[in-house]
Amino acid sequence: MRLKRSMSDKVIEGFNILEEKMALKENFFDWVGGLFHHAVNVPTASLNTIVSELDRFDPNGVRKDKVGGVILEKSSVDIHPGKKIVNVRTESENKWEQFIQFFNIDSMLIPDGEYQVKIVNPIIRLSRGAYFVKPFNYNSTKVGMHCSCPDFQYTFEWWLHEKFGALPVGYEPIPYTPSPGSNRPPRNPEHYAGCCKHILALIDGLSKDGYIR
Ligand SMILES: [Zn+2]
Repeated sequence: MRLKRSMSDKVIEGFNILEEKMALKENFFDWVGGLFHHAVNVPTASLNTIVSELDRFDPNGVRKDKVGGVILEKSSVDIHPGKKIVNVRTESENKWEQFIQFFNIDSMLIPDGEYQVKIVNPIIRLSRGAYFVKPFNYNSTKVGMHCSCPDFQYTFEWWLHEKFGALPVGYEPIPYTPSPGSNRPPRNPEHYAGCCKHILALIDGLSKDGYIR
């Protein structure tokens, strides 16, 4: 037996329609924003570029050896279809925050062909579902990244910014200068734009989950 629809159902339906209309409007402005976005610099490094730099900085694989011990929590993946950006965020067990931003990501509203990776957009909450993207390419998709741990910020972030512009939009690096009075040798004298063990762990996780190929 089908129940007669209650008033509250109608109210909820009204909200759903309203939400969808607002989402379309936001989508439009996001799209217009996206037109402007392409005037700003997109990073020139892929994950492969950055991990290769790390391999040269850290030829004994000290960081890679530690990846197994990293636990990442509170993962979130969201997309800004107009800006063609996908954001991936996690937090490590010691509360450092990881962030990888993938650039120039085309998306579709329905899965089709290679567009099979589902990404829910928490900002534009289209009630019907999500966006679908191709897996990010390890060798060619351009990325920006950040981790709040000291290794990332004081060893690599400045050079990621200087050499490849590979920070998330709006992030400012800490200048690579010794603290006053310090006679410690520079952490990264050859200026390799690598990354910390947390980011490596996040790349691993995303690969295992099918986001990266
Ligand atoms: Zn880190």
